[in-house]
Amino acid sequence: MPEICAKSILRVRPRIDSWFVSRMNLNLYRGCAHDCVYCDGRSERYRAPEDFAGAVEVKTNALAVLRREFARQFGDEHLQQELFWGTDSGLNGGDRQAGGVPPPDIPLEGRRSKRSGFLTLGGGVSDQYQPLEAQYRLARGVLGLCLEWQIPVHLLTKSALALRDLDLLGAINQESRTVVSVSLTTVDEAIARLVEPGAASPAARLDVLRRCSAAGIPTGVFLLPLLPGITDQPEMIRETVRAAAAAGASFVQMGGLTLKPGRQMAHYLATIARPFPAAHALTRELYAQANEHGIPLTDAAWDRWERMHAAWLQATQEFGVARRMPRAVFETVLDPADCADVVRIQEQDVNVYPA
Ligand code: SF4
Repeated sequence: MPEICAKSILRVRPRIDSWFVSRMNLNLYRGCAHDCVYCDGRSERYRAPEDFAGAVEVKTNALAVLRREFARQFGDEHLQQELFWGTDSGLNGGDRQAGGVPPPDIPLEGRRSKRSGFLTLGGGVSDQYQPLEAQYRLARGVLGLCLEWQIPVHLLTKSALALRDLDLLGAINQESRTVVSVSLTTVDEAIARLVEPGAASPAARLDVLRRCSAAGIPTGVFLLPLLPGITDQPEMIRETVRAAAAAGASFVQMGGLTLKPGRQMAHYLATIARPFPAAHALTRELYAQANEHGIPLTDAAWDRWERMHAAWLQATQEFGVARRMPRAVFETVLDPADCADVVRIQEQDVNVYPA
């Protein structure tokens, strides 16, 4: 398995992201063995390995780098001294590279408040709990650092391996707040096996929600991407929302399929052609015009979006789940200005395609 050294791990956005209520995210792996046919991570812009699911790269120095980045973001005089003089014992076997070399850009002013949203662990380009995590335990190490630094965490995954770390997720929830979300495009097991061959089954993902909810951790579902002609039928949307609510999800947020021209679109169309020929033809038609973000621009695509949207609105109302992460879940992790911003965006944005 390719092991690589990362120069940086933490990505910090200038503005809060209202979907994940987050400014920070990270990826411990490049590529993803879950191998979802629609994965945006295949797009050329992310520099993923050519064999996206089969040759996943592991950032083995991630924890040592992240520890330094947390010091830089949040400020810790003691730790900065340690890093400066090379006395940091580090994690993951230690990181002595900083020894004796002054850290170049640790700001002494303008440090970020820990009340600046969740650290998102997960996202569209690699799942932090994909199978290699059982061996490398990097996500567990990140949770340990978040507990130490009292940083709230929003975990998004398609893996049941996250339950291994329920102890840390619960401890962070007590200290600063954890949210655990799973993404689902359907709860139909047969379809999921075809479109998400390496991920945990929908039933196993729902069990993650159940167990986290039972541990007092707020949970949610990202109902996305809804796949044209495969998982976007109103009755299928209703069934997934019903199952999410029954598993304890406090919110179900939906999103459409984005297909960036190039590797992502080519892989998706080639993979669904045989098992879903009608959906293949439909998708070609809907995405005949798409922008650089992969958002379809055809009228037919928007008509379809409106139908999906209406089905989701109806189902969330029927089963009593919020459509975005509820304010009560995130208000303690934001300063008042950011909190007001997120609430305002949530109210305005009726959840169109992610840009
Ligand atoms: S789990 Fe997420 S990152 Fe992994 S292949 Fe699926 S969509 Fe991509």
